[in-house]
Amino acid sequence: MAVPKRKTSPSRRGMRRSHDSLKVESFQECPNCGELKRPHILCGACGHYNGREIVSVEG
Ligand SMILES: [Zn+2]
Repeated sequence: MAVPKRKTSPSRRGMRRSHDSLKVESFQECPNCGELKRPHILCGACGHYNGREIVSVEG
């Protein structure tokens, strides 16, 4: 079985993971509440998508 010769140091691990974060590049305004949301994803603020409420938001 192939085994790594050296333990990956926390620094190396951090360097490897430096590119792992997801970045969100596009936003649209929610037609219901006007919050910025991602296209094709229901609004996190009001839970609406495609003109109707999918998830009820408490509060
Ligand atoms: Zn909304």
